[in-house]
Amino acid sequence: ATAARQSLKIGLIPADGIGHEVIPAARAAIEAVGSDIPKPEFVDLLAGWEVFTRSGVALPEETVDALKECDCALFGSVSSPSRKVTGYSSPIVALRKKLDLYANIRPVVSVAPTAGEKPDVDLIVVRENTECLYVKQEELTNGEKGKEARATRLITEYASRRIGKMAFELALNRPRKHVTIIHKSNVLSVTDGLFRETVRGVPSLPEVNGRFDDVTIAEQLVDSAVYRLFREPQIYDVMVAPNLYGDIISDAAAALVGSLGLVPSINAGDNFVMGEPVHGSAPDIAGKGIANPIASIRSAALMLRYLKYPQAADRIDKAVDEVIREGKVLTPDLGGNSKTNEVLAEVLKRI
Ligand code: ATP
Ligand code: MG
Repeated sequence: ATAARQSLKIGLIPADGIGHEVIPAARAAIEAVGSDIPKPEFVDLLAGWEVFTRSGVALPEETVDALKECDCALFGSVSSPSRKVTGYSSPIVALRKKLDLYANIRPVVSVAPTAGEKPDVDLIVVRENTECLYVKQEELTNGEKGKEARATRLITEYASRRIGKMAFELALNRPRKHVTIIHKSNVLSVTDGLFRETVRGVPSLPEVNGRFDDVTIAEQLVDSAVYRLFREPQIYDVMVAPNLYGDIISDAAAALVGSLGLVPSINAGDNFVMGEPVHGSAPDIAGKGIANPIASIRSAALMLRYLKYPQAADRIDKAVDEVIREGKVLTPDLGGNSKTNEVLAEVLKRI
């Protein structure tokens, strides 16, 4: 399908807070790669807390319809109220569902680690994005000794298999070709047992046809995985996990390499991909022009890589890596005193 694209239609959803500052930077990086991708066509779209407070809708119907006409999208970040607000639910969670973005992919790489950060980290967390505790079936009842709260945790063979395939596919394109399955099947032998067995079984599926035979497989209990992530992160290449463990592991992994402002992600499905920086809307620094744009710029690169434009992605990533390594033009979260636009200008110069 890539060869047939005349243009690349990209939805832009800055959403809230620093999203308005970092998504334009990602757009500029995409524009800078020129002929390595089909002519980009950007579509500005609304979602999030800010539009909810104005209109009472967090994810307007028009946004979803417009996205269905796009090849991909970039999402900024949403501010979520800390208490439940009637009528509000996270647009990003809804978008993942509506567009069937079943994988959350988050590479974590140390480029120029400073004191307290780990060197030699080069891993990628592949998080299942549609089920587990996120089916949000909770109930509160009154038991004999007081309130009782229950939640359903759904693990299916179907979802475990497709996330497993995604993980092996990614591993195949990496030098170490190693997949670690994260689970807790010593306690949850039915749900996590199914996840573990299904992912383990991916390489022997008939339709896979032996393609993954060179990929080595390890597995680890989630608690020990977090421990080892902090002690010896270099042992990991591709980590694949059910939704909740993936959420925790990927935030923990991000902490290994410094600022949240560096870590990109994509939400990916078979027909759509959406780049999204890992950080939130950072209300403490929003509007000051000092947000680190690198996580969003890298998310754009990751999105282009998923769409099979590796040259464009490499050019963006290399430019970003150089700016970080040189260490002269950095935002305050990385110990510098430069502005968002100054970092962007350095990246664009190198692209
Ligand atoms: P939210 O509810 O939207 O998640 P938050 O208060 O949790 O908001 P985060 O965005 O998760 O804020 O950020 C946590 C901390 O990291 C904040 O102090 C924020 O300023 C900082 N931070 C996050 N992203 C960036 C960035 N791109 N550049 C600089 N600092 C950032
Ligand atoms: Mg946050």
